Amino acid sequence: MTKRLLALVLAFLLLTGCAGRPDWQETEFFAMDTVMKLRLYGTEEPTEVFGTVIRGISALENVLSVTKEESSVARLNRGEAVTPSEDLRILLEKSIALSERTDGCLDPTIYPLVKLWGFTTGEYRVPEETEVQNALKIIGSQYISFENDMISLKNGTQLDFGAVAKGYAAEVCAKMIREAGCSGILTLGGNIQTVGEKPDGSDWRVGITDPEQPDESIAALSLQGSHAVVTSGGYQRYFEENGVRYSHIIDPATGYPAQTGLSSVTIVADSGFLADGLSTALYVMGLEAATEFWRDSDDFEMVLITQEGEIHVSEGLSSRFSCEKEYQVIEK
Ligand code: ADP
Ligand code: MG
Repeated sequence: MTKRLLALVLAFLLLTGCAGRPDWQETEFFAMDTVMKLRLYGTEEPTEVFGTVIRGISALENVLSVTKEESSVARLNRGEAVTPSEDLRILLEKSIALSERTDGCLDPTIYPLVKLWGFTTGEYRVPEETEVQNALKIIGSQYISFENDMISLKNGTQLDFGAVAKGYAAEVCAKMIREAGCSGILTLGGNIQTVGEKPDGSDWRVGITDPEQPDESIAALSLQGSHAVVTSGGYQRYFEENGVRYSHIIDPATGYPAQTGLSSVTIVADSGFLADGLSTALYVMGLEAATEFWRDSDDFEMVLITQEGEIHVSEGLSSRFSCEKEYQVIEK
C-alpha cells in the first residue's frame, strides 16, 4: 500500500470511528412546535430512556400548551380556576421570580400582546396604538391569583410560557437522562442541553447560529459537563411591514416587539429554565442593560450579537468560545 493510500485509510477510520459504529444512539421527534433531537451516550439499549424523555416532554406540553384546549394553561386563559400540577406551580413561581429579577423584561402574562401582533396564528399585523395600550393594562404577574391551592387569572390576562417551556423541559429531561445512568445532548429547537460527560472525555461542541444566515454557525462553544445553552433571536420568528422588522419577542414595557439593536442572545447556565428565560429577557434589555445585568449576576454567561454584527462574550465563557470573526470580551 502506498503511503498516500495508507494515510487515506487511516483518515477514513478516524472519521467513521474504528469500530465503524458510533458510541451514541439518537432519536428525533416533534413536540412543543419544534423538532427535538436526543443523542445518548453510555447505553446500548436507548429505547427505554428515549421513551421516558419523550413521554416527559409530552406530559409537560399537555399542561403548558396555549393551543391544546384541555391544557391547564389553555383553561386558565379561558378564565377557569385550575389546581396546578407540580410542574405548573414550579414554573409559575420561577417565572414570577425571574420577571421581578429582570424588571419585567420577562413576563409570563405576555399572551394578550403575542396574540395582538398575530404571532399565535401567523396572521401578523401592526395593531393600533389604542389596542396596544389596552392590552398593556392586563399584562403583569400581579394578575395571577393563588387561592386555596387554586390558580386563576384576573382581569382577563393570559399566560404564555413560550419563553421558558423548552428550557424547563430540557432541565426536567436532563434529570431523567442522569437517573438512567447516561450522558447525552438534547436539542429542543434553539435550546441545547448537555448532560454529563462523553465517555471519551471530549468536549460537547455547541454551535451558535449566525443571525444573518440562520442555517450556519457563527461561533462554537466547547463545554464539559451539564449545561443549558439557549439562544433567542429576532431572526427566529418575525414579519416585516413598511421596511420595519417586528420580531416575536415583545417588550412588556411598551407592548411593541423589542428593538434594542441586538440580533441574538445566547445564555449558558446550569438551569435550562434560567437560560431560556434570560435569553428572552436580555434580548429585551439590549446590549448595555444586559451587560450590567450580567455584571450583577453570578449564575450565567452569555454571548450577545448586535445588528451591526458585533460579538460580545462574557469573560467566563471566553476560554470555551471559538469564532473566526473578531469579538469583544465583557469583563466584570
Ligand atoms: P423561541 O421560543 O422562539 O426559542 P424565546 O425563548 O425567546 O424564543 O421565546 C419567545 C416566545 O416567548 C414568544 O414566541 C412568545 O410566545 C413569548 N414571549 C415574547 N416576548 C416575551 C416576553 N417579554 N416575556 C415572556 N415571554 C415572551
Ligand atoms: Mg427564552
